[in-house]
Amino acid sequence: MSLSDNIRNRKKFTAFDVALAFVLICVSVILIVFQNANTSGDRLRAVVKKNGVIVQSFLLDDTSPFEICVDDEYSVVLLAEKDGVSVILSDCTDKICVNTGKITKPGQTIVCLPVRISVELFAENEQNRLDGVTG
Ligand SMILES: [Zn+2]
Repeated sequence: MSLSDNIRNRKKFTAFDVALAFVLICVSVILIVFQNANTSGDRLRAVVKKNGVIVQSFLLDDTSPFEICVDDEYSVVLLAEKDGVSVILSDCTDKICVNTGKITKPGQTIVCLPVRISVELFAENEQNRLDGVTG
């Protein structure tokens, strides 16, 4: 009696397992697709402005760190990394830009008043709004 119950339960659980596995596969596929879509939406673009005019604009997901020199009477060196951008060297007087550290999220800005340079991060999918924002 209990043995046949076990067998019946096992058969039921087997069907349930298959359904569960199917659901799990569907969920993981959906998650992978969603994560990929989310990742592409989260690509960061750094926009460097001098006196309010865009002088540099670049994506941060180009793998290896690199430096950008913005030369004027002051020299400012930016370090662009996959997850953010920072000012690592500046001839300016207050060093606020250097002390700001790395910005990693859209909307964050590094400002260097003496050099009149700003670095702002945008999500790449917000790029279309950039013109409207800067006016
Ligand atoms: Zn500065």
